[in-house]
Amino acid sequence: MKIQSKEHVSQMKSLMNYMEKETSNLSFQERVNDFDDWITDMYELEHLQYRRESINGSKPMIEIIDIYTDKKKRMINLASNDYLNLTKHPRVINAGISALMRYGAGSGSVPLLAGTLDIHKKLEKRIAEFKSTEDAIIFPSGFVSNYGFLSTMLKENDVAIIDMYAHASLFEGCLHCNKHLFLHNNMKSLEKLLRKCENNYRNKIIVVDGVYSMDGDIALLDKIVPLARKYGAHVLIDEAHATGVIGSNGKGTLEFFGMEGEVDFVAGTFSKGLGGVGGFIATNKKVVAYLNYLCRPFMFSTAPSPSVTGSLIEAINVLEQEKSLREKLWDNIYYFKDKLLSKGFNIGNSETAIFPILFGHDSIVKEVCRILHQNNVYANPVLYPAVPRRLTRIRFSVTSGLKRDELAKAIDVLEFACKEVMK
Ligand code: PMP
Repeated sequence: MKIQSKEHVSQMKSLMNYMEKETSNLSFQERVNDFDDWITDMYELEHLQYRRESINGSKPMIEIIDIYTDKKKRMINLASNDYLNLTKHPRVINAGISALMRYGAGSGSVPLLAGTLDIHKKLEKRIAEFKSTEDAIIFPSGFVSNYGFLSTMLKENDVAIIDMYAHASLFEGCLHCNKHLFLHNNMKSLEKLLRKCENNYRNKIIVVDGVYSMDGDIALLDKIVPLARKYGAHVLIDEAHATGVIGSNGKGTLEFFGMEGEVDFVAGTFSKGLGGVGGFIATNKKVVAYLNYLCRPFMFSTAPSPSVTGSLIEAINVLEQEKSLREKLWDNIYYFKDKLLSKGFNIGNSETAIFPILFGHDSIVKEVCRILHQNNVYANPVLYPAVPRRLTRIRFSVTSGLKRDELAKAIDVLEFACKEVMK
């Protein structure tokens, strides 16, 4: 294995070291110099697999400029959240172009002042219908919608009871309020906290991802909702990786469990299965009105661009009308999963298009990713502190446009990389 002596700062330190309180005694210059040593070391070991520059967008075969050779490189893309490859769908692109030509490049203002376009309202209506709620509100990103919603709704007498693997944006929204973490998808742990919080707070909200972004497993919504009812709690579900992927019509986790209309707050992003950018909260009319006038990240940020908005309306149409895209995605998911399992890889509890390959050791993950990169397989290393050290992994995600031979090749390369590293 090409590593790992103690002289390597990137072996001794993780990003966590640069976030810690101890760094508060350093000047800005000292802090960035320290960090620069880490980046340089990562680069020298060819472990820097971040911000690779694509020159053809988010395609199943992605082309990048390789920072290690300065040459163009064509890679099998197993790192995209563009599950149905809608970023490149002709109908989605054309709708974006039409909106761009009609409304221009930007929205011109924040939504409450002069920034709301008719297509913003249309998208809100469309996503509400799609998620079976009365209404919806759209945001510039999924991160902002989660953060904005929770930070607006939760006051000092309220509490969030949040799955420990929920997305960072949900934690960000609970930064300044009472919160308790329950063990991932563990109903005993959730109920214990609900009982503990039962009489102590004005409002309680259970916060979960529908599909977990690093594990690809599905929230046990059929158990969570009854518990919420039993203890008088609300539920917020983040449908980022579920929309377009699960449910018989790709509507997400609620459809998957046959529980549409049974959750108070449905959050999501437009950036994954719908191939655009932005986020939403789908809920009842009064909550939407409240957020329109009281949610600061919504009120003080310019409304989404016309082209993206136009594309997204069409993306929902495509999702509903072209079921073959989702069928192809699921063919790929089953194929990839079977192959990984038959080769003995540990993929945790993956049930969707996201596959963690668990190694539990930063150095192994970095080295395997180096070899994947050299052999034109694009996947993401997920290191501590993004996940606990014992759960470091390579995260693969499959999309509908990948071909069988590309998936097979990627697994062969993965197998080869693992053998090389474990030698
Ligand atoms: N929620 C989850 C579960 C996510 O994985 C992400 C994106 N990584 C977000 C929210 C944020 O969405 P966006 O990228 O649209 O800001």
